[in-house]
Amino acid sequence: MRVAIIGAGAAGHFCAIRIKEELIERGEDHTLTTITLFEKGSDVLRKVRISGGGRCNVTHNQFDPKLLASNYPRGSRELRGPFNSFNPSHMIEWLNRKGVKTKVESDGRIFPVTDSSQTIIDCFKGSVNNYGIDVKLSSAVKNIELNDSGQFLLSTSQEEALVFDYLVITTGSDRSGHFLASLLGHAITPLAPSLFTFKVKSPLLLGLEGISFPSATIDLKLGKKKWQEKGPLLITHWGLSGPAILKLSAWAAREIKEHNYQFDFRVNFLGLKLEEITERLKTLKAKEAKKLITNTPLDTISKRFWKVFVHELIPEDCERPWIEVSQKSLNKLSQALYATVFKSVGSHRFKEEFVECGGINSKEIDFKTMQSKIVPNLYFAGEVLDIDGITGGFNFQNAWTGAFLAAQSLTKKD
Ligand SMILES: Cc1cc2nc3c(=O)[nH]c(=O)nc-3n(C[C@H](O)[C@H](O)[C@H](O)COP(=O)(O)OP(=O)(O)OC[C@H]3O[C@@H](n4cnc5c(N)ncnc54)[C@H](O)[C@@H]3O)c2cc1C
Repeated sequence: MRVAIIGAGAAGHFCAIRIKEELIERGEDHTLTTITLFEKGSDVLRKVRISGGGRCNVTHNQFDPKLLASNYPRGSRELRGPFNSFNPSHMIEWLNRKGVKTKVESDGRIFPVTDSSQTIIDCFKGSVNNYGIDVKLSSAVKNIELNDSGQFLLSTSQEEALVFDYLVITTGSDRSGHFLASLLGHAITPLAPSLFTFKVKSPLLLGLEGISFPSATIDLKLGKKKWQEKGPLLITHWGLSGPAILKLSAWAAREIKEHNYQFDFRVNFLGLKLEEITERLKTLKAKEAKKLITNTPLDTISKRFWKVFVHELIPEDCERPWIEVSQKSLNKLSQALYATVFKSVGSHRFKEEFVECGGINSKEIDFKTMQSKIVPNLYFAGEVLDIDGITGGFNFQNAWTGAFLAAQSLTKKD
């Protein structure tokens, strides 16, 4: 059995290793199966290396298939079944077996205890070496044809018409992978960036980068569709970021692109009901009656933000003590804390983790096996599919799960 895997990234490596392990676990002679991993770059696992700020957020501490799948703006329905077979608990176990210990951070993200992606790279490279998997570097696959026996003929930047019985495409978000799949008859759903921050120009944010709100709520409405995300919000040099914005950017990725990244969205800085905010402002007014409004922020709001906020909203009252604040000004403050509308004027890639949404149409994949419904013996795994997760290790988990299932199915064929 000759297997070609195009793309020596996360999914490609895990699939190659698992094919060998499946055979060994079943007591078969794994040397009868040759695996060639084609990689267009001069080195493998580039994204794993830079992932999670060099620490590699390898998966997430969520083992319930349904809850886990809810972290995928595209693919949540399709991934439920696969996560029953292979989820983060299995990946952690696999890594442990390979001597890689992991740790869970307070937000559920899982990293190697070494805090270094090199640990994961060493683990993969070590197994690829042990199992005699052939890695062809600087070998971009340029063309695929099917011969009369249903075998795959691959042409790369180095060689022509190499013959394989099975093909796994794990090219990530690279356009060439989509092109190769389209040669075999697969449809590609439109691509769009996911996980980005919103570019916003507003006097309320000027010079305040680094300030965060732990429990904000963001609302977005585009056409007839509505989204709401809760979580930390961060002011950046460019505008607004933080988990709440990143999640929103992922869920609304396609629609935001259609609007050319120009849209209005609403921020509730404290994530509280209007009446609650009004009540808290009244209590603050009574408690800090003699203190200047500008120096006395509500709750946990940063002093720097508060100063800018009250000067923008109630310039006439902000340098007065709380006792003198007018009802009109109090209403203005609570309304703005509850719902300030910002204008996005563009997007900015999130430096830590970004993915592409869109890819091989999910309807053309059998998610029990990751096999193409169009071409027998053709498999896909990872980001090449129209599947993407929010930040937190979910994108790698999609790669591990797909690669596991493809390897399992492929080795069960006779
Ligand atoms: C900066 C950054 C940080 C990230 N951090 C995290 C994180 O911490 N946690 C997380 O879950 N996700 C993270 N992600 C997302 C994650 O890296 C990807 O979702 C994941 O790598 C996808 O795995 P893959 O195997 O599908 O694709 P990739 O890992 O991208 O591998 C695809 C490989 O295919 C090769 N290739 C493409 N076309 C061809 C061709 N025609 N011929 C030969 N080779 C080809 C490419 O060179 C590449 O090596 C991050 C992404 C970025 C950009």
